[in-house]
Amino acid sequence: MAEYPVSRAARLRRADKIVNLALILAAGTFIQGLSPQIPPIFAPALAMSASELDAALKKLDEHSEHKEVQTLTPIGKALAFSHSKQYQQSFSQACADGRKAIDNALVQAARLKDGSTLAVVSDLDETLLDNRPFFDGCADKEESQINWDAFEDWQKTCDARPLKYTEEMLAYARSKGLAIFFITGRMERLRRPTIENLIKYGIAYDGLYMRANGDQQNASTMKAAYRKQIEDMGFKIVVNIGDQYSDLSGGHSLDCEKLPNKIYFIR
Ligand SMILES: [Mg+2]
Repeated sequence: MAEYPVSRAARLRRADKIVNLALILAAGTFIQGLSPQIPPIFAPALAMSASELDAALKKLDEHSEHKEVQTLTPIGKALAFSHSKQYQQSFSQACADGRKAIDNALVQAARLKDGSTLAVVSDLDETLLDNRPFFDGCADKEESQINWDAFEDWQKTCDARPLKYTEEMLAYARSKGLAIFFITGRMERLRRPTIENLIKYGIAYDGLYMRANGDQQNASTMKAAYRKQIEDMGFKIVVNIGDQYSDLSGGHSLDCEKLPNKIYFIR
């Protein structure tokens, strides 16, 4: 009587082991059949425990993702990055920091009884307006191969959708009474489609500063000069937000927020 449960338990343990071994063998065979290029680390899969097998499968996934990214061009990689969690976090963090700067400035202005009108300056492309539908067509190219005339044609469609976090931060600033100024590297000849694009998505603002047609100066010089003009009108620029360092350098703002963009670089 006393021995029966013990031997039954032993039989169950044996059956368990057989099932586990069969699973490991099947999984090992499956892994080896996946690809002839599986790294050597996966070769002894047949001898792995279930937890080791899980870890190995995870590594295999990482390896496959890594290989896929390695085969992409720089623009392809940048586009993939723009859909990553890291990009989203970096973008949302910058906008959250911008909001904090707005809140601090409002508290400070109230305390000092400073009557200046506070303002936010924002870039447009890849800061507020999402041009990825155009760049998706360049995913197999290098940055130097981007057709910027075709990019201008895309801008003329007025179809660039707003990037959520910046849109929300600007709406928040406006709800708190701050003025919104856009300073963009887009040429003056794109003023009408740019305004149409902003109207299409209900984006409210107080001024749009654009690069003069044919102007070749660095974006950083041009943008800093426009911020100075805004200050000279009596505004205090609380936040300046952009996806390029050239949007932000040159002063004339209490706080700067840099957004991620690996697709292209502007001096
Ligand atoms: Mg930009």
